Amino acid sequence: KTKRIAIYGKGGIGKSTIVSNIAGAYSEDKKVLVIGCDPKADTTRTLYGSRLPTILNIIKEKRNAGRKDVIFSGFNQVMCTESGGPEPGVGCAGRGVIVAMSLLERLNVFEEDLDVVIYDVLGDVVCGGFAVPLREDYADEVYIVTSGEYMALYAANNISRGIKKLKSRLGGIICNCKGLDNEEEVVSRFARKIGTKVIGVIPRNQLVQKSEYDAKTVMEKFPDSDMAEMYRELSRAIYKNSDFILPTPLEDEEFEEFFQKL
Ligand code: ATP
Ligand code: MG
Repeated sequence: KTKRIAIYGKGGIGKSTIVSNIAGAYSEDKKVLVIGCDPKADTTRTLYGSRLPTILNIIKEKRNAGRKDVIFSGFNQVMCTESGGPEPGVGCAGRGVIVAMSLLERLNVFEEDLDVVIYDVLGDVVCGGFAVPLREDYADEVYIVTSGEYMALYAANNISRGIKKLKSRLGGIICNCKGLDNEEEVVSRFARKIGTKVIGVIPRNQLVQKSEYDAKTVMEKFPDSDMAEMYRELSRAIYKNSDFILPTPLEDEEFEEFFQKL
């Protein structure tokens, strides 16, 4: 059975970096498909080596686009695709996700022999389009990326509200460290508060930027580094995870109290 994962989290928290690197880790022994659901369409850049055209743009040019037009082969044959979306400030940003998902479905991409499908999704579950991977039975498990920063945890709590509302399944929290004191402890206490656990911890490391400048994942550019091993470890923890819950998000007041008690 295909493992179908959606990664949510505050803007800029490190979702795309985590998605591309764990995809790189899975590619060492698995068939993996990465679906970028962000109008910025930058999830697959480090896997493919440059920015891909988006499904929304491709079908504008070619009405009957086929599998070869929309799925691109990246590092270690990772299958890459980007939904795309309108220019900032124009139209609904989530529509691209809806259009892309129905095209991929029509092309039977999900019937292929895939071990893992990973969705990189914007943190704002407010928009219906971005809730698609949660709602429409495209992903079975959700992971939230956060650091120990207040606003990152605030977003994580909001996302867990969306997950609860849509009766999706939360597999855990990924701690992408900013380098704060006690950061792992803070994030793991938050995880427990909302009924889940930290599934993996990724330290802050310059190798991420060095790889990114070169349009590569850490997995490709520094495969023997400790950092690559951390992404491998995270990918394994997610792969073998079978513990999913309906989160218990904090009320606004409880959320404030959480920080007072730290
Ligand atoms: P957006 O919401 O805008 O899509 P995002 O959550 O996908 O953002 P990324 O684009 O993955 O976030 O990361 C934001 C920046 O943080 C990137 O420039 C990346 O290089 C950096 N970054 C992410 N994780 C780490 C890390 N563990 N160590 C160092 N830098 C990191
Ligand atoms: Mg991103």
